[in-house]
Amino acid sequence: MQFGKPLAEQPLVQAHLADMIVDLDAARLLVLRAAHQKDTTGGRVTTEVSIAKLGATEAASRVIDRAVQLFGGRGVMAGAVVEHLYRAIRPLRIYEGTSEIQRTIIGRALAQGATKS
Ligand SMILES: Cc1cc2nc3c(=O)[nH]c(=O)nc-3n(C[C@H](O)[C@H](O)[C@H](O)COP(=O)(O)OP(=O)(O)OC[C@H]3O[C@@H](n4cnc5c(N)ncnc54)[C@H](O)[C@@H]3O)c2cc1C
Repeated sequence: MQFGKPLAEQPLVQAHLADMIVDLDAARLLVLRAAHQKDTTGGRVTTEVSIAKLGATEAASRVIDRAVQLFGGRGVMAGAVVEHLYRAIRPLRIYEGTSEIQRTIIGRALAQGATKS
């Protein structure tokens, strides 16, 4: 409760929630597009997969960062669900190809005019 009403009714909190669902939906759609292209073309979809991996993992970091912010001080206390998720999600931008490597793959494909998007 803040200023006599639940935090969820504060416009700025709702704005955070809106940005979080946009990131979440966009991540899902990028992954579905890559999977759909793989299923329907049967060929290599390296660029689309890199776009999905980069977009979804960067989005996940933004979403959990906002979640921690919304929880305030409780969000960084050991044992809090969002604190656990914050640490669990951070490595996603490192393993299975770091974000820098995904950008390298995507940028090279764009420069070569090879993207199918
Ligand atoms: C939780 C976790 C689980 C893992 N699980 C596995 C696993 O099951 N199997 C496995 O084989 N490995 C696993 N790894 C290792 C993971 O794949 C590597 O950490 C990852 O590939 C990055 O390699 P590195 O740590 O040696 O970093 P480095 O390659 O030293 O990179 C350090 C930084 O430099 C950047 N960088 C590197 N090259 C370039 C470049 N050419 N241009 C621009 N920037 C660049 C990177 O993006 C990164 O930011 C795991 C890592 C983590 C954190």
